[in-house]
Amino acid sequence: MKIAIIGAGISGLTTAINLDKNSDITLFEKSRGAGGRICTRYMDSYNFDHGAQFFTARSPEFKEFLKPLIKLGVIDNWKARLIEVRDNVIINRQQWNNDLPRYVGVPSMSSIGKYLSKNLNIKLNAEVSIQKSPKGWKVVDCDGEVFGHYDWVISSIPAEQSLKLLPDYFSHYDALKQKKMLGCYSLMLGFDEALDLDWDAAQLTGTDISWISVNSSKPGRPDDYSLLVHSNNDWAEEHLDDDVDAVKEYLCSQVAEIIGQNVYSAQHIDLHRWRYANIPKQDKETLFIDPESKLAACGDWCKKGRIEEAFRSGFDLAKEMNNILFN
Ligand SMILES: Cc1cc2nc3c(=O)[nH]c(=O)nc-3n(C[C@H](O)[C@H](O)[C@H](O)COP(=O)(O)OP(=O)(O)OC[C@H]3O[C@@H](n4cnc5c(N)ncnc54)[C@H](O)[C@@H]3O)c2cc1C
Repeated sequence: MKIAIIGAGISGLTTAINLDKNSDITLFEKSRGAGGRICTRYMDSYNFDHGAQFFTARSPEFKEFLKPLIKLGVIDNWKARLIEVRDNVIINRQQWNNDLPRYVGVPSMSSIGKYLSKNLNIKLNAEVSIQKSPKGWKVVDCDGEVFGHYDWVISSIPAEQSLKLLPDYFSHYDALKQKKMLGCYSLMLGFDEALDLDWDAAQLTGTDISWISVNSSKPGRPDDYSLLVHSNNDWAEEHLDDDVDAVKEYLCSQVAEIIGQNVYSAQHIDLHRWRYANIPKQDKETLFIDPESKLAACGDWCKKGRIEEAFRSGFDLAKEMNNILFN
């Protein structure tokens, strides 16, 4: 049974790891590394986890999945000092501890994708599409290079991108159309000297910024002081096609106002736009399978824009596919 999985984020990787070992699986990933939105940008001596910040593990399956990563030090508990800010006023302070670990990849979020993909057959730098062929599904790249023919194709890419990849006769096509992922901007600031802040992470409401963290306070990071800022989804949605410099300038001015410090002294200022960053809680299926066309789709967008939900979707899909294909 030859199976192509499009996308090597946590949902695609989880599917590949949990599919029956009798299947012949190839993952196709358009970036140069696995991990998807669990990622890190490196700028000189600074590290910025510009996608997912941290994650928790609540289900027994996810806790089990994480055990080897904890044992090998691929992830660790970020014991951050968190502040909650509403309308520019600190309304709560928390010290994260061992009660509910907030995991991060070590030494960077991208370590997670690197570790999970190491024993998988994965083709990187391969942005692919699919075509029906007499031999099943043909996977091709944008230059028309054919990578192979597969019995099944699983799309683990964001819903809007899955709609472009999958044919409209995919039996869940209309359900995918209902999914609306939201944008986000990540602002990355690297400083020569540490800023005078008495917290490591701030969750904000009532402003266009939703998150500020001292990225360098996460375990195993380089000492060089870095701040990672996220805009809120609503603001990003309204400004997704704005000029990059104007967005940078606006977000810097907002951060300066919130933390009361001059962020324009940063040695490095960079911005990343996420068109499909996350999705609010959905209340239906965690996966979509169409046995007739031999197509399936999974991803965080099935349930909620969280790492554990992306894992859940890939895990459930693999279980269901194993039942269909091998029982
Ligand atoms: C800014 C931001 C902050 C976040 N913060 C948190 C957080 O703090 N905690 C948390 O739990 N979650 C957070 N999330 C959400 C979390 O990152 C996602 O829920 C999770 O990583 C999604 O995994 P996935 O496998 O479903 O999708 P993705 O990670 O998006 O994986 C899909 C992969 O498919 C690839 N791809 C797309 N199209 C193609 C194609 N045609 N061919 C080949 N490859 C393709 C992409 O390059 C990508 O690697 C955040 C996300 C963002 C963007």
